[in-house]
Amino acid sequence: MPDDLINSYKTGPDENGRFGDFGGRFVSETLMPLILRLEAEYEKAKTDQSFWDEMDDLWTHYVGRPSPLYHAERLSEHLGGAKIYMKRDELNHTGAHKINNVLGQIILARRMGKTRIIAETGAGQHGVATATVCAKFGLKCVVYMGAHDVERQKPNVFRMRLLGAEVVPVTSGRGTLKDAMNDALRDWVTNVRDTFYCIGTVAGPHPYPAMVRDFQAIIGKEVRWQLAEQEGEGRLPDTVVAAIGGGSNAMGLFFPFLDDPEVKIIGVEAGGKGVNEKMEHCASLTGGRPGVLHGNRTYLLQDDDGQILEGFSISAGLDYPGIGPEHAWLHDIGRAEYVSITDKEALGAFQLSCALEGIIPALEPSHALAHVMKIAPDLPKDHIIVMNMCGRGDKDIFAVAQHLGFDMA
Ligand SMILES: *Cc1c(COP(=O)(O)O)cnc(C)c1O
Repeated sequence: MPDDLINSYKTGPDENGRFGDFGGRFVSETLMPLILRLEAEYEKAKTDQSFWDEMDDLWTHYVGRPSPLYHAERLSEHLGGAKIYMKRDELNHTGAHKINNVLGQIILARRMGKTRIIAETGAGQHGVATATVCAKFGLKCVVYMGAHDVERQKPNVFRMRLLGAEVVPVTSGRGTLKDAMNDALRDWVTNVRDTFYCIGTVAGPHPYPAMVRDFQAIIGKEVRWQLAEQEGEGRLPDTVVAAIGGGSNAMGLFFPFLDDPEVKIIGVEAGGKGVNEKMEHCASLTGGRPGVLHGNRTYLLQDDDGQILEGFSISAGLDYPGIGPEHAWLHDIGRAEYVSITDKEALGAFQLSCALEGIIPALEPSHALAHVMKIAPDLPKDHIIVMNMCGRGDKDIFAVAQHLGFDMA
């Protein structure tokens, strides 16, 4: 779609769930009725004020929203250019943005009379958020997790079990996130009556990418009024930056600014050891090509034969081999820019945030911060950058210690 034909970037997706050439609903006949029912229920809830009132109440009293918008003064001074703000979603209950979306889906599940929630998880963050909200509402929770990830992410496996969830190790395929999502979709088809599938990012068949985005959009909506409060009425950020795994925290920050052309939008993918032919990275847009996975068409990491590759990143939360279809569209029409940051650059940003701001970031937003460190020095002092600090680093200190050669034993 040529740029000058677009009145609003917020109109997507169309009735078939497509963002330009991306997204859609590539699912089996058995799954189709479930997806259509979910879409109808979400459309109803979306325009029902009581649904959003319930969300607001829990966002305030259970999650701790609004999260602060924080002027990172020493970091800005150190970089010597743009004025940098951090959106502090790492302060949410469970330590990241994931719970914004989980609450929305589980409130919807309860409205639909569902009593059993299933989810996929990679590093375990979405699994923990889902297990948390299920415990709060007394719902049965089953989390599919690649067998390989179950081994690598023991603290989160234990957290989920403490919260009452059943964690199912997935051994099909290569036993990672992609396979866990396939098994969760299979479970859904066989347990139609009582089960709701809670997806953790802006991926999957329509309506998931749009629905998850709508729930995460609270991030950008808060930034709009918080920045106006701190910088003056009508002041918008000049640049917004967020890290991308599947792309949900990024869509949450970006969406409310899509129709403000003066706001520059930058998504940061995980460059791993570098975006090269060895594919030791997770940069689906920078280093992948379009294909179909998990019910939607988008950019994917794949080999010459179309086999999906696993990807590589220091940050377990970024190693999804695809990217949400709305990002694929924003990339192709040029509304957003996508870059990649290596493990090494992310580690540098991680340390700088600790040293200058007293904030231990997760490795995922450390990628966003690393890109801010690249661009900020060349920007004027009145240029405002808002980066999404979408998760806290407690979960990552062991990985970082290993990379820095610090003996934790
Ligand atoms: C899961 C996770 C991500 C990646 O998911 P998105 O859908 O891309 O947001 C990024 N950061 C943190 C802290 C996470 O837990």
